[in-house]
Amino acid sequence: MEQLTENVYVETKIRGCDPGIVFTSEGAVFIDTAQWITTLLEMRRFALERGPIQYLINTEGHIDHIFGNHWFAGECDIIGHEKILNGFWKIPPSFNMTTYDYSVDVIRRQDPDGLGKMPPEAEYKIGFPNILFSDRLSLRVGRHDFKLFYTPGHSDANISVYVPQERTVFVGDTVFSGCQIWFHSINFDDLFRSLDFLGTLEVDHIVPGHGPVVDKSYLFEQKAFLHEWLQAVGYAMSKGWTKEECVERISFAGRCPVDIGQDECMDYIQTYNVMACYDYLSAKQGGRFET
Ligand SMILES: [Zn+2]
Repeated sequence: MEQLTENVYVETKIRGCDPGIVFTSEGAVFIDTAQWITTLLEMRRFALERGPIQYLINTEGHIDHIFGNHWFAGECDIIGHEKILNGFWKIPPSFNMTTYDYSVDVIRRQDPDGLGKMPPEAEYKIGFPNILFSDRLSLRVGRHDFKLFYTPGHSDANISVYVPQERTVFVGDTVFSGCQIWFHSINFDDLFRSLDFLGTLEVDHIVPGHGPVVDKSYLFEQKAFLHEWLQAVGYAMSKGWTKEECVERISFAGRCPVDIGQDECMDYIQTYNVMACYDYLSAKQGGRFET
């Protein structure tokens, strides 16, 4: 775990999201949960040595952010956007397995020491958020403020958690740093708006959903990469390429790796990203390019 500020700790070097802890005078607030059980339990132990866990905040409902909710269910309130329940504990149908089996498979391959801690399916508590909000939510915990903002785009349920006293914002998958971006549930217009909004916050540290912690300058890079994707597909469409031809010929696989432990997802990401760009640009033209 990396100590980011006096009271903020994050883990950026595991498979799955970048989970974080903010320590307040009243105990810990967790932002997202680790996908490796070993790391998850270490983070919990580390937090509980200093006091109770007050809240868990989920920045989105994708499995890599909420898998560990089981270990918080019933212990503290869990907070998320009101749309988070729609896709909660669901993986894409193309994965061809249940969410539980998918999680066990990840643990078996990548966190074998944690496998014995995985509860049987009948005892696994999904840990749905029990406090939901629509636009903004402010919490005061001890002497810390937590300002939660709806920042959709990566999915329709993404939120960001701004902690002004630490000059830090946890933005979930609104930002991927140094690794491939997933477009499988994207709304480009919302995402650009959310990235612009994040640029207005007074922060030194942006904790992304995946990859190393960055500062505000990275927001330009992230937006530029999104534009590059759209430009590549848009240019191909201007030449009359079909969606299938775009999928076949366009790839940003050489630009950066997939986040830790997910190399096998590279083709899936490239394929779905091209299709998402194609569908978005096609809709902007009144669907003229739909195939
Ligand atoms: Zn993620």
